[in-house]
Amino acid sequence: MKVSLEEVTKVFDGGVTALDALSLEIQDGEFFALLGPSGCGKTTLLRTIAGLETASSGTLRIGDRDVTGVPPGARDVAMVFQDYALFPHMTVADNIAYPLRIKKVGRAERRAKAASTGEGLSLGGLMERRPAQLSGGQQQRVALARAMAAQPTVFLLDEPLSNLDARLRLEARTFLKKLQHDLDVTTVFVTHDQAEALALADRIAVMESGRIRQLGTPREVFQRPANVFVAGFIGSTPMNLLDGECVPGDGETATSWGHRIDVAGVRLPVPEEIVTELAPGDKVIVGIRPEYLTESDEGIKGTVEIVENLGTTSLVTLATTGPNVQLTVPEGREPKPGATLHVTPRPGRMLVYRADDGELIA
Ligand code: ATP
Repeated sequence: MKVSLEEVTKVFDGGVTALDALSLEIQDGEFFALLGPSGCGKTTLLRTIAGLETASSGTLRIGDRDVTGVPPGARDVAMVFQDYALFPHMTVADNIAYPLRIKKVGRAERRAKAASTGEGLSLGGLMERRPAQLSGGQQQRVALARAMAAQPTVFLLDEPLSNLDARLRLEARTFLKKLQHDLDVTTVFVTHDQAEALALADRIAVMESGRIRQLGTPREVFQRPANVFVAGFIGSTPMNLLDGECVPGDGETATSWGHRIDVAGVRLPVPEEIVTELAPGDKVIVGIRPEYLTESDEGIKGTVEIVENLGTTSLVTLATTGPNVQLTVPEGREPKPGATLHVTPRPGRMLVYRADDGELIA
């Protein structure tokens, strides 16, 4: 089912505004990620959808039903908590069957349903164990099975993978993606791990201070961050954000086509699609991912400071006259520390933000 929020605000006792007039529509069947730094309001938003927090103002709908004041049990949502919150004294089977017991489903039907759900999540041989006798990954699957058994219309997952070690995490990530695809249930999950959000979600809301700074597909958010906040947040190696100024072209016409952006003393061409948006004197911030900087005879000059091995590539940090610039180079092509390099963005891979408000010029 669709989940929609209209101008939802949550102010906690003590005055913290965790959600600030936030509006959002999550589509039926969508796998939706809430992403952002610690304290941005992700968990509060999830808990508000669950009914564990009450909005201070605004409207929340699940499907066409206004559930703003409806208690959690009557919302038809299931939440999986970060620590899984399994009942330690119950077996796996009883844990999975628990929501059905609450719904007063008969014992035989509960057993059968728990068994088939457990089977679907590869828990078949573990049904009589207790949570303490399971690995982290198995506990996570029990928590998911318990949420699924209730057949909710919306799944809410709070950092579902954060308690797993790196290897298991990848495995569980793939598993979760397939499960969500098969179930086709609207799923909202909270994460502070952008790789996880990019890998799993149909769409991502990137949050800051109780607001959504960008809403888009993983590709949109990665390729075209809407502002410098998102640009700095998304990407396993952070985007280079360099101060620049629009200047007239070298002795050319004074038309906008001749404009350049001066970055660290180098004049880069203004991307064609935004030439009419800029005039000489405009202050900008140029965003270039380390993956999209290449060595060239001209371009921003820097001295190699650090070379970090990332596996199939290396991350090179250059000291320039301005802030440091980072680029990735293929394995085996690493420059030596102390060497001088010139780097330039690949055509079409430079983003330009307004310096005053940090918004993408598009
Ligand atoms: P994290 O990734 O660290 O879990 P988050 O993005 O999930 O962070 P929230 O837990 O939603 O952030 O918190 C948002 C803001 O609201 C924070 O400033 C937090 O301190 C505050 N907050 C959260 N819960 C309460 C509460 N019960 N009472 C008062 N303030 C709270």
